[in-house]
Amino acid sequence: MMDGTLPGRITGFIGNRPVDGGARATFENVDPATGRVVSLVEEATKDDVDRAVRAARAALKGPWGKMTPDQRSKAIHAIADGIEARFEDFLRAEILDTGKPVAMASHLDIPRGAANFRAFADILKQTPGEFFPMIAPDGGDAINYSLRGPRGVIGIVCPWNLPFLLMTWKVAPALACGNAVVVKPSEETPATATLLAEVMRDAGIPEGVYNVIHGHGPDAAGQWLTEHPLVDGITFTGETRTGEAIMRAAAKGVRPVSFELGGKNAGVVFADCDLDKALEQSTRAVFMNAGQVCLQTERLYVERPIFDTFVEGLAARARALTPGDPFDKATSIGPLIPRDHSAKVLGYYDMARAGGAQIVTGGSAMEMQGDLSGGHWVEPTIWTGLADDHAVMTEEIFGPCVHISPFDAEDEVIARANDSPYGLASMLWTQDVSRAHRVAAQLEAGITWVNSWFLRDLRTAFGGMKSSGIGREGGVHGLEFYTEIRNVCVKL
Ligand code: NAD
Repeated sequence: MMDGTLPGRITGFIGNRPVDGGARATFENVDPATGRVVSLVEEATKDDVDRAVRAARAALKGPWGKMTPDQRSKAIHAIADGIEARFEDFLRAEILDTGKPVAMASHLDIPRGAANFRAFADILKQTPGEFFPMIAPDGGDAINYSLRGPRGVIGIVCPWNLPFLLMTWKVAPALACGNAVVVKPSEETPATATLLAEVMRDAGIPEGVYNVIHGHGPDAAGQWLTEHPLVDGITFTGETRTGEAIMRAAAKGVRPVSFELGGKNAGVVFADCDLDKALEQSTRAVFMNAGQVCLQTERLYVERPIFDTFVEGLAARARALTPGDPFDKATSIGPLIPRDHSAKVLGYYDMARAGGAQIVTGGSAMEMQGDLSGGHWVEPTIWTGLADDHAVMTEEIFGPCVHISPFDAEDEVIARANDSPYGLASMLWTQDVSRAHRVAAQLEAGITWVNSWFLRDLRTAFGGMKSSGIGREGGVHGLEFYTEIRNVCVKL
């Protein structure tokens, strides 16, 4: 059923209370499936951003800063309990913000939000330390040991594609390490960040530990947060270009950044693969979340003997995807999220056509009926026939589309897959174990999936090479960013 309620109002949250007092500009939050306004969002003022950062700073000196790792772990499990108790609220808010199908959001986005808190509550409880005995120049003994504490106030800037999953992926380790945070969700998808603030308050998380400011990026909440001198570190997921702007802001005061950025991910399919499985998982890798996943495969290289069969097989699966009401369990593909993003993706569809690509399926905007006619729908699209240096092959599109190229040799395909400024994820299909290890080791990507795609263990390192990011999150890898290590040297 489509949402028929009147627009509500979404506010920021500072010190466990909704931001109020004073007039604030509002912006419209649009349901991408219908194009309807579902809520009005109060845009944070510069003063709100300052108050949020100061509230976080104050929280570090309060009860939160005095908790033991065990106590923090318990508190963070209580946040996960709170998310699970309000599962339906989160689900509905996320679907109205993104238009993503309920089948996906109920199995991935919302459960992963809770799972992120549980995982980091457990993983970071036992942070490893160092101990090095040494001999001093006078022949006496000395010992070194490490102390690890929170970095301080973490500024968290999030994108719109997997809003709750990616936000909690940062909030959970930040809190598990004892930091306090100020979150700036995407202006396109504000709802779950504010709902999470209610959960934090109700779970007894001390005030100021989790704060939310809403608004845009440049000359607005995003920029003011990243420029704020009392923010000790900035973690950001979004476009590489935005990462560059944030890095410039972080340079003032030489503050550390942790970045998860764009990608132009390659999938390599050898002729000896299990074809059915390769097709099934490639369908996910290309079309899941209407292609708005940073790990999405936008370039597929298929060994020539199975090229035609693979292209036809993937096209048949693309045609079988079911667009529709996101709240309908049978819907398998949703709209693009921001309206201007659908225009950008359709611009690449035009470029592919103009560049002489063969359009195997799709290639246009999608005409929808009734309530959905005002949404941001584009067709799942497959092209062949473009050269490797065409913009469609080199630039991140972030839509439900893929270009498939044939290849003849292992060395050739490794070089072509790596010929990109990005290095986030790659996918490899072969039943030859030696080749799987040999090729995986040569692919320039932070994550390579062999005979699978998006199979995640939250203990593993997650992040991108080259222009796809800085640093690694996941498991204990986030300790580098979320904590500060100090050495104590004692002469005995
Ligand atoms: P975006 O960079 O446009 O926006 C992300 C956030 O940054 C938003 O909250 C926005 O308001 C804010 N922002 C924009 N300009 C800013 C500025 N000057 N200062 C501070 N904040 C600013 O990204 P998006 O369009 O929301 O998300 C899509 C992009 O995210 C794609 O490039 C995708 O590949 C990338 N992404 C990467 C990963 C990953 O893990 N590597 C995951 C998801 C998405």
